[in-house]
Amino acid sequence: MHYNPSSIWLRMPADIVSRTARCVAAGVDRKTIRGDVEVFFRADDIAVPAIQFSKLLQLFSRYHVPLCLAVVPAWLTKPRWQGLQKCTRNTAALWCWHQHGWRHVNHEETGKKQEFGPARTRTDLEHDIRRGRQRLEHLLGENFYPAFTPPWNRCGETALEVLRKLDYAAVSRSRGSEPSAPSGLPSCDVNVDLHTRKEKSPGLGWKKLWVDLQQAIASGRCGIMIHHQRMNPAAFDFLEILIRALAGRKEVKFTDFRELG
Ligand SMILES: [Zn+2]
Repeated sequence: MHYNPSSIWLRMPADIVSRTARCVAAGVDRKTIRGDVEVFFRADDIAVPAIQFSKLLQLFSRYHVPLCLAVVPAWLTKPRWQGLQKCTRNTAALWCWHQHGWRHVNHEETGKKQEFGPARTRTDLEHDIRRGRQRLEHLLGENFYPAFTPPWNRCGETALEVLRKLDYAAVSRSRGSEPSAPSGLPSCDVNVDLHTRKEKSPGLGWKKLWVDLQQAIASGRCGIMIHHQRMNPAAFDFLEILIRALAGRKEVKFTDFRELG
């Protein structure tokens, strides 16, 4: 499948390194919490080993930064899992492999796309959630962590109740998602979108990305969403620049769902 990169990756600002450092510094300076700023990265739509995936894991390995990997259970096979694992030798502790829905298909007839939305019965929702988990537990074994990222970052109230009933450690959606998660099901929401941004012009896209990034850091928890299939060379360059800028601040602590959930 071919994915187009977001407009910002077609024109990167010339002063990108200093601009990124300034944005991170401004976020840290304005933080509204005591203690460290928690930063985590979540990469979605994982299942197929390919060059983009290897490049992504090499980057995180180089900087010893953990990464939450949202795996689509129905897309994963034993050979694919073996292929994915080739990138993780000696770095197993960095990767938080978890569940990204079941088949990544939309079941809503109207409104925004959802795999686990209100159009489906509780029985069907629970069936697919369990099926996905069983498949990942079977293929990934000890590597599987029971967190759930719903496709398109959204799901309905019933799905959230099912996740809590099945003792999931966390759910990860977009910041401010409704309905809110029930007590007993921690949220690890993302608040920075790097690769599925909708702004038509790169200028506006960058303006909004700087705002999102600064606000996320200032909030004390910055969750950065990655879609590796949509990354072009500029997107890879920026991800490295961003990791370096964050790693350069003593107030920043890189983490993942295993510590947050
Ligand atoms: Zn997805």
